[in-house]
Amino acid sequence: MLEVHRLVTRSHLSSFVCSLEKLGNHQRLFGKGVSAPKVKGSTRLSSVCKRCLVMSATSVKSYEYVILGGGNAAGYAARQFVEKHGLSGHKLAVISRESVAPYERPALSKAYLTANPPTRLPAFHTCVAGGGAPQTPDWYAKNGIDLLLSTEIVDCDLNSKCLTAKDGSKYGYGKLLIATGSDALHLDELGMQGAHLGGIHYLREIAEADKLYEAMKACAGKHAVVVGGGYIGLECTAALVINGVRVTMVFPEPHVMARLFTPEIAAHYERIYAQKGVNFIKGTVVDSFADENGSGQVKYVRLKNGPVLEADLVVVGVGAKPRTTLLEGALAMEARGIKVDGHLRTSHADVFGAGDVITFPLKMYGNRMARVEHVGHARQSAMHAVDVMMGATTEPYDYLPFFYSRVFHLSWKFWGDTPAQAKTIVVGEMNPKLVAVWIDQDGHVVGTFIESGTEHDENKLKELARTRPKANVARLEEAAAANDVDGFLNAL
Ligand code: FAD
Ligand code: NAD
Repeated sequence: MLEVHRLVTRSHLSSFVCSLEKLGNHQRLFGKGVSAPKVKGSTRLSSVCKRCLVMSATSVKSYEYVILGGGNAAGYAARQFVEKHGLSGHKLAVISRESVAPYERPALSKAYLTANPPTRLPAFHTCVAGGGAPQTPDWYAKNGIDLLLSTEIVDCDLNSKCLTAKDGSKYGYGKLLIATGSDALHLDELGMQGAHLGGIHYLREIAEADKLYEAMKACAGKHAVVVGGGYIGLECTAALVINGVRVTMVFPEPHVMARLFTPEIAAHYERIYAQKGVNFIKGTVVDSFADENGSGQVKYVRLKNGPVLEADLVVVGVGAKPRTTLLEGALAMEARGIKVDGHLRTSHADVFGAGDVITFPLKMYGNRMARVEHVGHARQSAMHAVDVMMGATTEPYDYLPFFYSRVFHLSWKFWGDTPAQAKTIVVGEMNPKLVAVWIDQDGHVVGTFIESGTEHDENKLKELARTRPKANVARLEEAAAANDVDGFLNAL
């Protein structure tokens, strides 16, 4: 089929497949046998074209650049191609399984569930968080980017540089950026009894957020069990509480956000959640779910240590898994992600990666390999990868880890690293500030955290995490003992 492709010029092929695509889309929407509408720049599609449709599964539409995935990294990569490199003329395709253009995923567990009225598209298409206007499908069309939505790629042949979608359509590329992100870990994949029941929610994509929003509204005054004490657990619990649902959180660790918070930091957040009526069950996991009278809807959550909780709604946030399946065996992998070098190149020529799915060297930590599931990395790695793909930089990607969350009236940010042997000093009672620093064994500040910081505080803490100065531990401990947040910040 690539032979066929090579016999025709790019522009012939492009307009030919474009017509097929329009007819194909029309038939998907309205069904076979319904006559095609007029398409721009042509008359009703000819019978020749319709005959050619039979061939469409064996034709390849080719692009110089393809972004595989339509999430945060994809949106920022597309903007970089257009705004920094002036790409136009249908040389780039963004291929996404989702039915909407790339959006700022973090909104799904925040304003999408809690704002009044709730935030909805197009308000949070990428790259609004990067200071840009929302990139609606019109933006892609206007800039000559083919945005192929509801298109799941099921095969990726790196040797022939060809991607195959679920419907059989094929897309060739010159250079490929893999930005397939990650997916929520599902308890039914782990074989948990009852995990398939209705009323058990996960939150990764917009369709799931819609379902959760509806279920949450229907559960006001009722009871939800939230499984997991990490990001999804804490943010969804806050959303449920704001919407009048009573919540019990269940997680195996001794405190919330165990992957980052110290027990002292966690205690402050747990106090605020408890004041809002949230009940914590720590140190255990879910054993199984059950319905009542065969309703198919979850009603009971049985815990490993015996107790059974009643639930009208369950939200599960027990971690994510990178979407690497397509590339397994074809690309080098590390730490469950696609391995890339400092230039975000995979083990295959002309294939790059960005966002949640990659394992990359953290330059500032001696090129320690890491996978990072946070939006700041998705945005920055995507833009950097595009610069590399366009030959515009030879600098390695140099990411300063940055995590944040917003719940209720609270907003925290973290920069840097939390080595296992680090000493942590915490100051403040969250009225409104709380500051923490991680100091490594050599006495350098390596991680910084602030709740409700000013812009000035945040800039300072970010800079400290980047430059890692020697800490004046005695002065910091003195300020912490006196609960003097400003004195603590000045001592840094
Ligand atoms: P994603 O945004 O997940 O995008 C991957 C895209 O690829 C999706 O559109 C997917 O459908 C598509 N795709 C996958 N496989 C295929 C295929 N085979 N064919 C076609 N398309 C495919 N991070 C923060 O730092 N702060 C936050 O506050 C925050 N909040 C979050 C809230 C929620 C509810 C979630 C789920 C995540 C949150 N994150 C947050 C994490 C952040 O959103 C991710 O790190 C970021 O979205 C990763 O971007 P990505 O482009 O790598 O992956
Ligand atoms: P997470 O890793 O933050 O938290 C998972 C939690 O589930 C942990 O408390 C873990 O111990 C617990 N857990 C694991 N197995 C369990 C079990 N069987 N029963 C009960 N608890 C169990 O992952 P998440 O909260 O699911 O987040 C998923 C993804 O979404 C991550 O990539 C995360 O970075 C991203 N996210 C980020 C933000 C943010 O940065 N603000 C917000 C939402 C989501």
